[in-house]
Parts: sequence; structure tokens; C-alpha cells
Amino acid sequence: MKICLFWHRRDLRIYDNAGLAAALASGLPVVPLFIYDQDILDYLPDKADARLTYIFDEVERLAKATKAAGGTFLARYGKPLEVLRALVQEFEVAAVHTNEDYEPYATQRDTAVGQILQAHGVDFLLYKDQVIFAKDDIMTKSGTVPKVFGAYYKSYVAKLTDEDLHPYDSADRFISKNLHLITPEKAGPRPTLASMGFERKEQYVPTSDLPAEDVVRNYHKTRNTPALQNGTTRISVQLRFGTLSVRQVMHQAKALNPKLLAEIIWRDFFMMLLWHYPNTATEAYDPKMRQVPYRNNEDEFLAWCEGRTGYPLVDAGMRELNQTGYLPNRVRMTVAGFLVKHLFIDWRWGEKYFADKLLDYELANNVGNWQWMAGTGAVSAPWFRVYSPESQLAQVDPEMKYVKRWVPEVGTPAYPTPIVEHKFARERAVEAIRAARITA
Ligand SMILES: Cc1cc2nc3c(=O)[nH]c(=O)nc-3n(C[C@H](O)[C@H](O)[C@H](O)COP(=O)(O)OP(=O)(O)OC[C@H]3O[C@@H](n4cnc5c(N)ncnc54)[C@H](O)[C@@H]3O)c2cc1C
Repeated sequence: MKICLFWHRRDLRIYDNAGLAAALASGLPVVPLFIYDQDILDYLPDKADARLTYIFDEVERLAKATKAAGGTFLARYGKPLEVLRALVQEFEVAAVHTNEDYEPYATQRDTAVGQILQAHGVDFLLYKDQVIFAKDDIMTKSGTVPKVFGAYYKSYVAKLTDEDLHPYDSADRFISKNLHLITPEKAGPRPTLASMGFERKEQYVPTSDLPAEDVVRNYHKTRNTPALQNGTTRISVQLRFGTLSVRQVMHQAKALNPKLLAEIIWRDFFMMLLWHYPNTATEAYDPKMRQVPYRNNEDEFLAWCEGRTGYPLVDAGMRELNQTGYLPNRVRMTVAGFLVKHLFIDWRWGEKYFADKLLDYELANNVGNWQWMAGTGAVSAPWFRVYSPESQLAQVDPEMKYVKRWVPEVGTPAYPTPIVEHKFARERAVEAIRAARITA
């Protein structure tokens, strides 16, 4: 019997899922699939990873839901190309449906997958799901890639209609008539964390519900106060793994708070930029910023990582990150600015550290924001702007409530003196970058 596969990647949900809806409407019974990608797992820094634990739990939840609906969910561990090649030989697969992913690794992988499937006579169909506008959907009037967020935002909002945010009917179609049942022997066991060589790591992740209405309504007033527990929406992990639909989230933001809508549009913006400029995952977008002579002092980097710089807001942020896998945007900006300007360390070191630690780690957003802070990106803060971590503290945490939560010894002799003086550090960075830009 001919079937089709729906390959879940960054969309671990059944409701409002573009590719899943298309597969279920295709007329062929669907077998949902998840592949634990060995090429990605091999690079995880630890054998106990909270993100993998989260993915595992979500995949198991999908598998249960598929069984309850009368179908079979397949999960495999390995290299996607090899797994898919084996599956199309094992089953009579007519098509593989999946949602687009815009990262450089993913686009290369999908090109290779498309070729292999085509060679086996299997259609490979991709859908836009994790963003509203992607690739060339929004261009400047002269047809170039937009690099000014304000102009991109204006075009975005002008183009956005209710139709773009209308949910796909995948949940309604997720019924036995549209699903395919495979015997347990043929389906094989689903991988466990242990079978893949990993252990569980529990870390708090907010639920996959939409943020509470009052959080959304107050967002513009509370977002820059890190001491507040509900000052921001905390949806980034869900958006990363697709346990929440971006259409649903945007629909709410559009109705209740334009500031929040704009922040979510930054996510589409950075994904669009990375798709156009995949080289920026690993190098400065601005060629004039590629030869900046960063100091890259390893002891100072370690002090930053461990929250021992003597700057309370920086240290609080890094300790929160280390303990929880999260830190609020405003503090991300402070710690990133401090690393690239005050310590004058390559933004890629910080980007990598965040990638290892953040539960919501997402290549496009991480690289885009790091390059923004370093002044190296397609869209950037000016390279000569160096924010004072002390003024930042006075602005966002004047009573030091946030700082004291993470750095209890602040103000006592146990707390280190500042690792570098602000004015000296600012001049050192600005002069070195200026000189590098002249010779670049
Ligand atoms: C140096 C640095 C690195 C970052 N790395 C990541 C990352 O790896 N993954 C990630 O998802 N976000 C990253 N961000 C963006 C932002 O800090 C987080 O998305 C946000 O803090 C998550 O918390 P929240 O869901 O409560 O955000 P909210 O403030 O409630 O915003 C809602 C959603 O809007 C989007 N958003 C908000 N701010 C930004 C932004 N500046 N850029 C892009 N999207 C945004 C996110 O999807 C977020 O979940 C980074 C920011 C900086 C300054």
C-alpha cells in the first residue's frame, strides 16, 4: 500500500502545522516521522542535554497522540539521508512532506534528501510553516534584500493579512482514515535517550500555552525589567521547537500589542537574512569587520562565562544562563556587548557559548543578535557604540532585585572588582576597530 511520510523537524505539534495538513489532505495515508539527527547530536556539548530531553518528551507525546488517533509514529536515530533511504526501501513511500528550515545545514541537507528521494521516485514536498514571511517574500522596492529593520517591518505589516495567520486544519484531519497503521514489528522501537547515549536533564521550560493576556498587554512596559518573572512572554523555546504555532502567537500579538508583534517579526527578519547570507553563521556580514584584532583572552572569557567580571548585571545574566538555560533579552544584550566590546573577544566565542547553553538556542536569532551587538551584521548597532554596563544596570534593575537573585555576594568583599575599566575598554575597542576598518 502506498503511503506518505510527514517528517517533523522544528514543528513538534499536530495542530496548525502546514506540512502535516498538506500530507493529511494528499489522499495517501500518512506516517509521521521524527529523525534524531546524529549529525546534530554528535555536537551537543554534554551527554545530559535539556533540549534533547525536551525534544524526546515531545516526540513521545506525538507518538502517543498518533497511536490514539489510529496511526503509527516512526522515530529513528541516525543520519537523515541514510534513514530516509532505508525507509523508502522498506515501505511503499510515494511522497515525503516536511516544513522548510532556513539554516545553512538544513538547506544543504534538504537539497541532498531531495536528490536521493527523487532517485527513488519519491516526491519531496516542502512547506512554509515556522515563519510568516521567508526568503524573498519581502524585498525592498529596488528588489534587494532588506537590511533596515524599520523598512522591513513596515512592508511586513502592510503585507500581513488575516489569511497569513489563519490556522491550518491539521488537527481536524489527524484521524485514522488519513493515517497509516504499521505493525509494531515493522515500525521498530523508538529510540530512547539511553539508546542514543544520552541522559535526561530536567530544566524548567514554560508550558506550550499561549502567553497570558495580561503579560501580552503589558509587554511594552515590562519587557526591560529583568527582575519581573512575567515581564516577557517566555515563548522562545516553544517557537524554536514548534510546540507553539507562530501564526497563533502572532495573531494574539497583532490583536493585543504591536511592540510584541514587532519583536516576533525580528525572528522572521533574522531567519530571512541567514537564508540569504548563510556565510554569516560563521563570519561577519560586513567585510570591513572581518579583520578586527580581537584580544580573545581565555582567562577573561572564562570569567565572563562564569559570571565573575565584577559587573553585577553581566554576572547576574551569565549565572542565570548557566543555571537555567535562559536570560531575558535586555540582559542578553548587556552580556553580549560586554564580551565583544569591553573584553574585546570575538562574537563567535559568545555565540558558541550561548549555543551550548540556551534552551531556546536558534542559529539565525543567535547569530543575528550577536552580530548586531558586535556591529558586524547586515543589520547592526553602530560598531563604535559601547554601552556602559553600569548605566544599563541603573536603567533596568535600579534596586538590584534581579542582580541579588543571581549574585548574592554583590556588595561584599567576596565579590570581584571590575575586570576592566569601562572608559579604558571603550577606547581600546573603538580605536582597534577603527584602525582595522581603515586597512580592510
Ligand atoms: C546576544 C543575543 C542572543 C540571542 N539568541 C537567541 C537565540 O538563540 N534564540 C532565540 O530565540 N532568541 C535569541 N535572542 C533573542 C531574544 O533575546 C529571545 O528571543 C528572548 O529573550 C526570548 O524570551 P521571550 O520568549 O520571553 O521573549 P519576548 O521578549 O517575549 O519576545 C517574544 C518572541 O519574539 C522573538 N524575539 C524577541 N526578541 C527578539 C530578538 N531580539 N531577535 C529575534 N527574535 C526575538 C522571540 O521569538 C521571542 O520568543 C538573542 C538575543 C541576543 C541579544
